[in-house]
Amino acid sequence: MNVRGKRFLFYTLLAGVFTLLILFFISGLNSPTAPIIIEVQAEELTQSTMSTPVPVYTPASAPISAPAYVTMSDPDPVSTPDPAPFEISPLSSDKPEQPLPAQVDTVVTAPPQTTSVTVDTYMPNGVVAPSASSKVSIPVLNYHSVTIDPGNVVVISPAKLEAQMKYLHDHGYTPISLATFINLIEKKSGLAAPDKPVLLTFDDGYVDNVEEAMPILAKYNFPATLFMSPGMVEDASYLNWEQVKQLQEAGWDIQPHGMTHPHLPKLSAEQQAYEITEARKLIEEKLGTQADVFCYPYGEYNQTTVKLLKEHGFRYAFTIDQGYTTNQQSPYLLKRLFINGEESLKAFINKLSKAN
Ligand SMILES: [Zn+2]
Repeated sequence: MNVRGKRFLFYTLLAGVFTLLILFFISGLNSPTAPIIIEVQAEELTQSTMSTPVPVYTPASAPISAPAYVTMSDPDPVSTPDPAPFEISPLSSDKPEQPLPAQVDTVVTAPPQTTSVTVDTYMPNGVVAPSASSKVSIPVLNYHSVTIDPGNVVVISPAKLEAQMKYLHDHGYTPISLATFINLIEKKSGLAAPDKPVLLTFDDGYVDNVEEAMPILAKYNFPATLFMSPGMVEDASYLNWEQVKQLQEAGWDIQPHGMTHPHLPKLSAEQQAYEITEARKLIEEKLGTQADVFCYPYGEYNQTTVKLLKEHGFRYAFTIDQGYTTNQQSPYLLKRLFINGEESLKAFINKLSKAN
């Protein structure tokens, strides 16, 4: 072998030694004990699992941080908890002392997307939604004349009215003012609902309301609401303004029932508007109160009637449709319970207490 040959052999061996050294070094870097590269691997794993569908969460629905952790460890981390250090690093950075099984349990038992969905949908409505959706239901009793007139279902005898008021009193009912009724229906905050609220209403404004009904209600300190037709005040069968004022002073709310107690659907829009607004205007002028709660004469109305009430700023209107009044009814179609003067006390109790 000449010098040239020896030099070639030397360099070949040298290259071989370097190759071996490089290979050895590289194999050392791939060892699981090398801390710096582990983080790179973990991040690479995290990146790759984030972009691919996984058995537990889909990338679209899952928050970014947690699913990467879950899929890295196992679709079922509880059964095969893997304490391999490279799997801890993505989540353990904020809570290094926390043991791994606790973290896994947290992720599995409370999936992040479930929590976020609950919070997102509940928080904006949390304050008002439960309250607004709850039903307010109040019996509104519908009386007319209080006198003795056997066979007339619209008339109740003073004795029967007395028995009914006594029943309300003895069984914890709370007759309320119209203002309280509106507050309850509108769920005004801070208002403590009275026990078993009930609204007593008297239609038409018969003179016996002041002569018979007023003393009976006053005995129990019960308020009531009167729906009157101001065009009838000259008729002896009906209350005059002085008597209406007496009722007002006794705690009765006075509201309009049309000027002349007409069949409203038979009237033109102009005539209806007059009946509705003139009755309100007179009551407000004579009594100095607000009279923006209407009661349909005969319970009759049409679309024009309701439209006029809205246009003129009426707040509510009562029908003679039967049932409890609730905050889920149209404010212009509130129901009431007709009190049949011929019915027994038992029938009255049954009507009052039956489910609406
Ligand atoms: Zn009437």
